[in-house]
Amino acid sequence: MGFFSLFSSKPSTHTLTVTSANGFHLRPVAKFVTVAKAYKAEITATFNGRTVNAKGVNSLLSLSLEKEDSFLLTCKGKDANEAKEALIDTFFTLMEDDPEIQLLEKEKSTYDGTSLEADIITSGIAIAPPYIFREHYVEEKKMQPFHESAVLSLQQLQSLYEAKKNEPNAEIYLAQRELLSSLTQDLVTLESFEKRLNAVSEELKGTKMEAKIIDYKDILHRIKTNMGFRLDVDFPKEPFILLANDLLPSQIETLQKVSVQAVVLKETAINSHTAILLRGAGIPSLIADTSQVGTNNTIIVDAHAGLVVIKPSQEDLQKAQRRKHEDLTQQQEAREKRFEPALNTKGKQIHVLANVTDVNSAIAAKEEGAEGIGLFRTEFLFKEKKPSFSLQVDAYKKIFDLFRNTTVRTLDVGGDKALPYIELQKEENPFLGVRGVRLFKSHPQIMEEQLHAMFVAAQNSEIKIMFPMVSSVEEFVDAKAFAHKVAKKNQLDIDNIKFGIMIEVPSVLFLLEEFNKVVDFYSIGTNDLTQYLFAIERTHPTLKTDDLSPAVFRAIETIVEKADKPVSICGELAAKNKAIPTLINLGIETLSVSGKTIAKTKELIRHV
Ligand code: PEP
Ligand code: MG
Repeated sequence: MGFFSLFSSKPSTHTLTVTSANGFHLRPVAKFVTVAKAYKAEITATFNGRTVNAKGVNSLLSLSLEKEDSFLLTCKGKDANEAKEALIDTFFTLMEDDPEIQLLEKEKSTYDGTSLEADIITSGIAIAPPYIFREHYVEEKKMQPFHESAVLSLQQLQSLYEAKKNEPNAEIYLAQRELLSSLTQDLVTLESFEKRLNAVSEELKGTKMEAKIIDYKDILHRIKTNMGFRLDVDFPKEPFILLANDLLPSQIETLQKVSVQAVVLKETAINSHTAILLRGAGIPSLIADTSQVGTNNTIIVDAHAGLVVIKPSQEDLQKAQRRKHEDLTQQQEAREKRFEPALNTKGKQIHVLANVTDVNSAIAAKEEGAEGIGLFRTEFLFKEKKPSFSLQVDAYKKIFDLFRNTTVRTLDVGGDKALPYIELQKEENPFLGVRGVRLFKSHPQIMEEQLHAMFVAAQNSEIKIMFPMVSSVEEFVDAKAFAHKVAKKNQLDIDNIKFGIMIEVPSVLFLLEEFNKVVDFYSIGTNDLTQYLFAIERTHPTLKTDDLSPAVFRAIETIVEKADKPVSICGELAAKNKAIPTLINLGIETLSVSGKTIAKTKELIRHV
């Protein structure tokens, strides 16, 4: 056997069958492609006589694979077998984890006024005048080149994905990033990009993937905005019902800031990313053709019955008001206890704090009943460019002023977290390299500026500063000494500030006696602690970490036993239904969770 034949081994193939009722759609395809890209092998998918590259989102999507379709996965090259095994595993998990998205069932209801039948995206009820959404772009004076805007758009989508990783719809950003990266290759003008988008959208029309056309439009919108086009939309100040052909996924966040009462879309699909985000935002929403609806009258959106009532009678309006009132009372009951302390069945209070990334998330968390901030992830505060000193002071001060109890973490960059203005040396194993507290040595200037800004902002508040990724007592002692030097240099008094560490690296478990002598508090970062306990990257495409493993609970038990300073938990585990009873029984008294899960976490505690 010659040298060549040794490596040109036979292609490795496997037939995969789509079992998800949603088909092999954009989000799972994006995940599948990220796994495929980790291998050198040439990987293709063949369906109905067409063979496409399985490392490209668009090519794979173009097969329009629906439930029960089988396609042939072919891997050729050096690591073909590993690639095939990993992709089979990934595919099965993706299919299993993809519950069918269904239209909501309609309640029976009749109205005197003319009613349009509609499908329900999010249930609820709204009474308000309609506002017809029309958009047009205005060109700003200073425009950026297409290429630069495409690169910036990719970075933004990556940052959005990172920032929202713990939220249910984060994969939408991953999917859009993959789409964008496969669509912009070799293109240099906005015109050629639009042409390509139109062509791929045409291909998707009439297929089950049609719902994804809106993602192409969203990507185009992002690039145009980054080039300097501004979308001229002026929503009414008074409450309104939004009628539109369709909306972009990225526009849903804006809707949460205006007085929209309900949304009726003509062209969206129940499984579109727009619909998924509307559901996440809890805005009553329907799918119906409202092109004949004028703007003069108040209308009713009954998103329980799936009806748009165009000319409601007085009785109709009263009936809708009554139903709206019932809805509100139910929601209020569920939410009204969120500001109350969470006492377990033995009467012991467990403190529920929030994980935040910026001023808005901190304000929202307070509104959700947070008793303080247990983790302020500062690396998500300024994601695009290096902030000025005064911008930093301003942002920190706004957040420190919100709560009496705030724990702020110094920049946790490296590993899975990147910032465009912090350059890190390329490393073979970035998860085991320069990251977290190690930035004090590699990037002292940036850390000095951050600490200085925190100290200025905290002059009248009592805050806690914690260092991430600490693995030895020296790292903590050095970082704290660094902080004191910064304070002295700027003649600032920091006696009101406590210093502690995240427990994310297993070595800390064996050094707690020594740490007890120097730190003021501990916060367990179960996300990273799990990754380092199991030696599995938390973002690994095929291997999964499991923070519900006994190993993690035993680690927590050890920490609670040995620590003689306050211990809280701020990793995702803190909000898991299955974990909360055990954590409380182990003696944990403070949990820090994402804003949206605060009321739920408190309610769970009340039953332990
Ligand atoms: C953790 O590692 O558990 C943690 C809370 O920090 P992050 O998720 O930001 O790395
Ligand atoms: Mg961490």
